Amino acid sequence: MPKMSASADSAIMEAPLPKGHYFAHVKDEKTEVSKKTDAPMICLQFEIDQGEHSGRVLPGMGGWYYIMMGGRRENGEPHRITTLYETIMGLRAEWTCQACGATTTKPFHKEKIGARYIFACPNCSKPADISFDGSWIGLRCKVRVDLEKMQDSDEERNVVKAVLPRE
Ligand SMILES: [Zn+2]
Repeated sequence: MPKMSASADSAIMEAPLPKGHYFAHVKDEKTEVSKKTDAPMICLQFEIDQGEHSGRVLPGMGGWYYIMMGGRRENGEPHRITTLYETIMGLRAEWTCQACGATTTKPFHKEKIGARYIFACPNCSKPADISFDGSWIGLRCKVRVDLEKMQDSDEERNVVKAVLPRE
């Protein structure tokens, strides 16, 4: 092999950020289907836009925040899509109620039915079956970030745990 060289400047890796809340906006988005179950998913990346870590992309290292939109698990149970509703509220994204036709960015009402909560339309109070245009790039939010161990490694990486309203 001939003599080769490499520069450490080109091999800088981002150290994970401390666990916490960061002000951010949606930087990139795409949809995918789960390779295991064909369930539809929204995938988001966020960019921190305040403070010393401004410009940093989360979850980082090319990772995405996955939001299930439906479908079933491998065991046949329906995927819980609570995260979709919570993300729409966190981003103050627009949605349309299939029952009354209202289009709004208002948060869903959490209605207690027995021992469960469901998301309900703030306009008609019916369970919120929704449609929405997932063009969310630029929408501002606050992300809750945690650290997790990478598979087969002691190194840690950031994970986005929740998308919360900015104010
Ligand atoms: Zn409604």
